[in-house]
Amino acid sequence: MADTSVATKPSTQNGATEHFDVLIVGAGISGVGAAYHMKDQCPDKSYVVLEGLDTFGGTWAMHKYPGIRSDSDLYTFGYRFKPWTGAPIATAQEILTYMGEVIDENDLGQHIRYKHKIINASWSNKDQQWTIEGTKGDDNQPYKITANFLWMCQGYYRHSEGYTPDWEGMDDFEGRIVHPQTWPEDIDLKGKNVIVIGSGATAATLVPAIAGDCNHVTLLQRSPTYFIPGRNENELADQLRALKVDENWIHEITRRKILADQAELTRLSFEEPELVKAELLAGVKAFLGEDFDMEKHFTPKYLPWRQRIAFVPDGDIFKGIASGKASVVTDEIDRFTKEGILLKSGETLKADIIITATGFNLSVLGDINFAIDGKPLNFADTVTYRGMMFTGIPNMLWVFGYFRASWTLRVDLLGDFVARLLKHMTKIGAKSVTMEIPEKDKGMKLDTWIDPENFNPGYLMRSMNLLPKRGEKHEWQHTQDYWTEREEIPEIDLTDEAFVYRK
Ligand SMILES: Cc1cc2nc3c(=O)[nH]c(=O)nc-3n(C[C@H](O)[C@H](O)[C@H](O)COP(=O)(O)OP(=O)(O)OC[C@H]3O[C@@H](n4cnc5c(N)ncnc54)[C@H](O)[C@@H]3O)c2cc1C
Repeated sequence: MADTSVATKPSTQNGATEHFDVLIVGAGISGVGAAYHMKDQCPDKSYVVLEGLDTFGGTWAMHKYPGIRSDSDLYTFGYRFKPWTGAPIATAQEILTYMGEVIDENDLGQHIRYKHKIINASWSNKDQQWTIEGTKGDDNQPYKITANFLWMCQGYYRHSEGYTPDWEGMDDFEGRIVHPQTWPEDIDLKGKNVIVIGSGATAATLVPAIAGDCNHVTLLQRSPTYFIPGRNENELADQLRALKVDENWIHEITRRKILADQAELTRLSFEEPELVKAELLAGVKAFLGEDFDMEKHFTPKYLPWRQRIAFVPDGDIFKGIASGKASVVTDEIDRFTKEGILLKSGETLKADIIITATGFNLSVLGDINFAIDGKPLNFADTVTYRGMMFTGIPNMLWVFGYFRASWTLRVDLLGDFVARLLKHMTKIGAKSVTMEIPEKDKGMKLDTWIDPENFNPGYLMRSMNLLPKRGEKHEWQHTQDYWTEREEIPEIDLTDEAFVYRK
């Protein structure tokens, strides 16, 4: 591919349809990272970023609930090429400011088109290119663009609405029900009794953020989650800063230290889960005191790291509970009532406002209708190559980050990979690449996208049937193992028979 282009400007085909070497879907942290890697590593290729919203940031622009912040540190959630100079856990606004600087400093803005929703993506084997169709602007004008390569940075969940289970009696409730993903601007929590349903990072962020405003806030969870409380600072980075070490060095050294520590935690979680469990629980207990029922409220049923572990800066949610401004109830919902929620235990929780921090709806491929030579593509019929490419789908790569490490680590890793792949294709004069399971591996056992024993968040469990299959061999899986991938991905042999090129 791309032997057609020596410029970063698009070419126009048939006098009307714009054409790019690479089309990046989405301007979240993955898409902006992808644009940087195009500029940095493939300056001779044309590219465009299409974003449905009117701004960059994706997750961080869309979520507006009180207290929204990262749950992993920004030394690793930040890109490897732009130092993070603030406290490790950052607010959404701080992340947006950082991304805005990346766009400005690298002049990426000229390549990003906002308010460009993508609706259809169809691949033609005859033309060996993608045709993208969608609507743009405030008046949803149709547009069409062609591209050789699709770099899917559309995230993994539906942005228009979050996941709310269908509880009996929801219509009876006389107060207001709100999902954090679509936080209403007009909501007034002052003096109100609020229930936050959920146990993940969002609930843990929201509760302390609103506790000061509300009369009382109750965290209602079906089952407990692991948390790591700690101070929102990085001692090593602060020491290096005090020694006036260059920020680029501080960024790199701090990243290496955090990643080494995380590798150790991950290893221990699988080799000595009970030890890790005891340490995590002790961290929480330190805030809540001896009399608190830790077993009931903060002792998860699963082993550590099978779901994301949220870092809680300064243990703020536990301080809120200890002070009595917030409380935690671990029980199941029987039904909603006029006044609040009736629990299976028979207790009723009264509320003026109920916030359902109950997660996402998985969105596969940005809800775009994909077709190959006119035939609708069912993503679930494909097998993934390392959780980034898919059998039978030419010239396409999806950035699906890590759960046990920062998402963005994979953005940089795959940025290098795409650049290497594109250059290789130019060198051998290939117009397309499609992953195919080699003959010797054809009998390989196929299974669901991810092993539920290994990782099992609700939004994946609910929608596993929509995702590609994984194979028995680790090359045909998203292993979620950054530490192995950072060694293996740069070494991938692009002449391996799994890569099928067409000229
Ligand atoms: C509240 C919250 C906190 C999180 N905190 C962390 C954290 O601390 N650490 C961590 O590693 N991960 C975290 N995550 C996971 C997080 O989503 C990812 O880390 C990361 O932000 C995803 O970036 P992305 O660019 O891949 O996708 P997104 O941020 O989802 O952005 C995708 C973009 O693509 C656009 N798009 C999608 N479909 C289309 C279409 N059809 N047409 C046009 N545009 C389209 C969307 O509008 C969006 O702007 C968090 C997630 C949430 C919801």
